Amino acid sequence: MAAVSDPAAIEPEIRHRDCWYGRRTPHWREPLTVQTIEDGRLLYCTHPMMFPIVGYAFDVRNCAGCDAFKPHHSRRP
Ligand code: SF4
Repeated sequence: MAAVSDPAAIEPEIRHRDCWYGRRTPHWREPLTVQTIEDGRLLYCTHPMMFPIVGYAFDVRNCAGCDAFKPHHSRRP
């Protein structure tokens, strides 16, 4: 988990990685538009207010300053 006093100063990719709702998958078929691929995996958000609307067409820049950010305490592999 990133330890920064100003949450807005954390890069969106790091917020996504540290967020309980942040997920990634190696399985994606859609043509890329706003999606973010990191290490060959598509990043997406499972928050119930976000996923039903954008699904896998998720732009990680949404994580910057997101009010729904929920830090988790263990690193996923
Ligand atoms: S958009 Fe918000 S809730 Fe979704 S992964 Fe990013 S920080 Fe978490």
